Amino acid sequence: MVEETPDGDGVGTSGVEVRISGTHFPVTTLGPGRRLGIWFQGCPLACPGCMSRHTWDPGGGRGAGLGELLDRWRAALDAGAEGLTVSGGEPLAQAAALSALLEGARAVGREAAAGGRPVDILVYTGHTDAELVAAPRLWEALRHADAVVTGRYVAAEPTDLVWRGSANQRLRPLTELGRRRYGPHLERAATGDTLQVVGSAAGGVLLYGVPRRGELAELERRSRAAGIRLSDPSWRP
Ligand code: SF4
Repeated sequence: MVEETPDGDGVGTSGVEVRISGTHFPVTTLGPGRRLGIWFQGCPLACPGCMSRHTWDPGGGRGAGLGELLDRWRAALDAGAEGLTVSGGEPLAQAAALSALLEGARAVGREAAAGGRPVDILVYTGHTDAELVAAPRLWEALRHADAVVTGRYVAAEPTDLVWRGSANQRLRPLTELGRRRYGPHLERAATGDTLQVVGSAAGGVLLYGVPRRGELAELERRSRAAGIRLSDPSWRP
């Protein structure tokens, strides 16, 4: 349940809890520049071939207070973040919490913008544009996003488009800042690194980004050749 009460800095945080898979800064493969990434936990959409099956279970991950997440956003901004990317999991499976997070992140980001450094908010959702139009409650939860990537991952529709996993997915700028920042990338193919490899505190390895066609299979092949066994990769059923 989400119950919002404004606190001292005008950003409501009391009682808002988000089930998350994790956070990371800096993320460089999910949107322009160095970004804070927040991954929601829980996805009912179950796309075949999803690389993030560990985020499907709504009871997995951990609970995080909105205050904690906004503190991470403030710290990322202090460290030079250019944007926030919210992914999952399916962020809209926790629509009220997402809405509160984006509203808070927008308010916190205004300070950076006032200092001449606008910061954008990008949200990934597996819902299609048509589903969002048909569900005003979901669309409303995205009102503080500058851009969204919409649509299921469809393994049979590979793409080279930057920040998208399959050709059916749409990158949609929603604000003036979103149009400025994402407009030049709508038809651009990905270049450079598309996956970021980060060691996790639990001792495993986390991959952030959108793999190119065949990239995960190649990673498994190379790991095997190097004598490294990948145990329970998140893209295997
Ligand atoms: S690709 Fe995204 S929407 Fe599809 S199952 Fe995975 S987390 Fe859910």
